[in-house]
Amino acid sequence: MSDITINIKEIRNRIGEAANRVGRNPLSVKLVAATKTVAVSSINEAIEAGIDIIGENRIQEARDKAPELNKVSCHLIGHLQKNKVKYIFGLFDMVHSVDSPELAAEINRQAIAKGKRMDILLQVNVSGEESKFGFDEKNLLPDLSEIGKMEGIAVKGLMTIPPYSDEPNDSRPFFKRLSALRKKIQAMGIEGIEMGELSMGMSNDFEVAVEEGATMVRVGSAIFGRRQ
Ligand SMILES: *Cc1c(COP(=O)(O)O)cnc(C)c1O
Repeated sequence: MSDITINIKEIRNRIGEAANRVGRNPLSVKLVAATKTVAVSSINEAIEAGIDIIGENRIQEARDKAPELNKVSCHLIGHLQKNKVKYIFGLFDMVHSVDSPELAAEINRQAIAKGKRMDILLQVNVSGEESKFGFDEKNLLPDLSEIGKMEGIAVKGLMTIPPYSDEPNDSRPFFKRLSALRKKIQAMGIEGIEMGELSMGMSNDFEVAVEEGATMVRVGSAIFGRRQ
């Protein structure tokens, strides 16, 4: 078996154990392989090992790789500029990184013009770091009813990126906050807003994320090795 195949097996085991620790079904967690800078041959190896969702950060890179990739669902996990929205249709099945009402509106506008509907997650900046993209927790709630009315987008849940730390448990409070926010939004029962998905956890902290309710973990280096 190749390293990539072994890594994926091991990560799935660790996801399963983390889920079991908190009484969750391991199958309720989707493993998204984060493939920025990774060669197509390695990505195809991961797909053969069972990966069925990949996450790309950049439009251009995703466009370049798409023709050579085995059949797989591709999600956009990196920041999206409004002037690039026109490229996402047909390339991505979901955008995890919708980080402003303006971006949501632009995706909506172009989706409607194309007769399409794009699945999205709302990225929340739970740590309040200035360098991070995302809705402020406070600003998100007032925007939700408007976003829920947008027929060209389907809001499926929330996403976050906590501050980087070597210590996985440092991410826990941020994951807890995203989880609590999801529950709060669910309880509000806003039309057009579904909260089924929580995209959180990366190579260093995905087990903590699963313990705190992640339904999608975005894992790159633990599958493919360190990026160049
Ligand atoms: C790169 C990246 C990941 C994966 O990071 P690793 O630490 O390599 O697992 C996850 N999410 C986003 C948004 C990323 O840019």
